Amino acid sequence: MIIAIDGPAGSGKSTIAKLVAARLGFTYLDTGAMYRAVAWRALENDVDMTEPLSEASLKALGVIASEEEIRFVRRPGETQASQVFINDRDVSAEIRTPTVDKAVSPVSAQEVVRAALVKQQRKIGLACDTVMEGRDIGTVVFPEAELKVFLTACPEERAQRRTIQNASRQGLFFDEDVYEQTLASIISRDAYDSTRPTSPLKAAADSIEIDSTGMAIETVVKYVIDLVEDIRGMPAEQ
Ligand code: C5P
Repeated sequence: MIIAIDGPAGSGKSTIAKLVAARLGFTYLDTGAMYRAVAWRALENDVDMTEPLSEASLKALGVIASEEEIRFVRRPGETQASQVFINDRDVSAEIRTPTVDKAVSPVSAQEVVRAALVKQQRKIGLACDTVMEGRDIGTVVFPEAELKVFLTACPEERAQRRTIQNASRQGLFFDEDVYEQTLASIISRDAYDSTRPTSPLKAAADSIEIDSTGMAIETVVKYVIDLVEDIRGMPAEQ
């Protein structure tokens, strides 16, 4: 079974997808981390990202996306594999920086990158029951997914969640300036992701939209698990 969870930046997809996957005993796949890993490698290789991209840049991105190995590893004590490696290098922290936030949308808008990553994502999803989160899972990667959720929240709440998440990862306190920068960054990333010609961020026609503004995490998780139970016609939790 595939559960597709799509939505804009900071809508809580990762948190919800990880918890739902853990409760159902499903594999969890963060497709955004794959696009981030490719963007990080492009920055490391000094690929010129001036738009429109040159033939040389497109070729370099294609090589990274199709030939370099992206792996997810489970840390001790974790229920889901969320450590990200590219070519055996742990880039879990590096792919969450503002520099990668800025570079990832133009990278992920390239057909050559999407074709290579979507192929890998389909392979993973076809191998086992998976909760897959991203922007185009329900529309492009798995249009046949049994359950499609489109998760949203107002931009201010999404920016607040992201700021708190990043600060706690780095052992820092909430900072108002960082919040303002995060808000601007997610608004511009959503605009870019929603208007690109290839696989834009949009809700699949048959998706169930959940606006999680002001909702507790557990309420959203329970709602999704209930949807799975409805589909299966039996209690879903293991
Ligand atoms: O989910 P996250 O915010 O980490 O995704 C980073 C970026 O990767 C998004 O802004 C988008 O440009 C790209 N992405 C995508 N398709 C996906 C997942 C992410 O284009 N399925």
